[in-house]
Amino acid sequence: MKIIAIGRNYAEHAKELNNPIPTTPVIFMKPDTALLKENKPFYYPEFSTDVHYEAELVLKICKEGKHISEKFAANYYDEIGLGIDFTARDIQARHKEKGLPWELAKSFDGSAPISNFLPRSQFADMYNINFSLSINGEKRQAGNTKDLLFSFERIIAFVSQYITLKKGDLIFTGTPEGVGPIAIGDHLEGFIESDKMLDFYVK
Ligand code: ZN
Repeated sequence: MKIIAIGRNYAEHAKELNNPIPTTPVIFMKPDTALLKENKPFYYPEFSTDVHYEAELVLKICKEGKHISEKFAANYYDEIGLGIDFTARDIQARHKEKGLPWELAKSFDGSAPISNFLPRSQFADMYNINFSLSINGEKRQAGNTKDLLFSFERIIAFVSQYITLKKGDLIFTGTPEGVGPIAIGDHLEGFIESDKMLDFYVK
């Protein structure tokens, strides 16, 4: 399986990092070794001193497709979950400066904690879903899918022009504003609506 992630998909987040609002989706990938499941602790990596959290809704792809049209794209995911796109912001900044790829900042082991998944049928409107992240009991990020720059269908259609999507692939759909650093000892709790999806510690 593969993990595809969308950068700058909420305007207020693009602005907080002084990035332009994109006109086509910005994508990057994480390997399967980035996954962190079952609320296992995240071990702070020694190569960074500025790891940031980015809470994101995650789509689970349910069938293989390429060149998927936007009209039919909704048939290609059947579950959503919550994930954290951990980012070594210091490494990313150095690489962005030189115009180099972001992999070392985004794809390291444990950089993609994910929750269990909820069936899409549980949601009346995919474009009015609230999600949030609290650290040590304090809310740091709160997003709603109505603010997505690129819809789930647009993302699936766009990505599948280049990369065949397969059953079990995950798509991280971008983070709202409020990203910031984590520290050893932090307790992260993530929610979709009122369901607690993530609950783990940084060690
Ligand atoms: Zn992200």
